[in-house]
Amino acid sequence: MYCKNCGTELPEGTRFCTHCGTDQNTTRPVCSVPDRPNTNLILAILVTLCCCVPFGIVGIVYASRVDSAWNTGHYEDARKFSKLARNWSLWGIALTILIYVLYIILLVAGVSWAMWWDSCDTFFAGLI
Ligand SMILES: [Zn+2]
Repeated sequence: MYCKNCGTELPEGTRFCTHCGTDQNTTRPVCSVPDRPNTNLILAILVTLCCCVPFGIVGIVYASRVDSAWNTGHYEDARKFSKLARNWSLWGIALTILIYVLYIILLVAGVSWAMWWDSCDTFFAGLI
């Protein structure tokens, strides 16, 4: 057998290369591939389905680019897309929460307005 790293001839079954010390049992090359970033695709799909469609779609677009960038060896781009997919999804969630809060405030304000109007109506009715 030959060393995977430097090609030195080694006795069969040798674990570590006598020349460069590389572990012959590992299938990884010496320059190991960094960990694949999370695509955040599931998060983006959830945002699209439950909350904010435009943000979720942007998230899905970036999430789908993570794997293709990674597979072509653009590790930095893959990480960047992963981060963008997460950020857009999180902004979608934040915006949805904000809209719900505003909706509740308007609802409460609307109810109190209606109640105030109702009391005025009674007041004027009493004048007539
Ligand atoms: Zn070697």
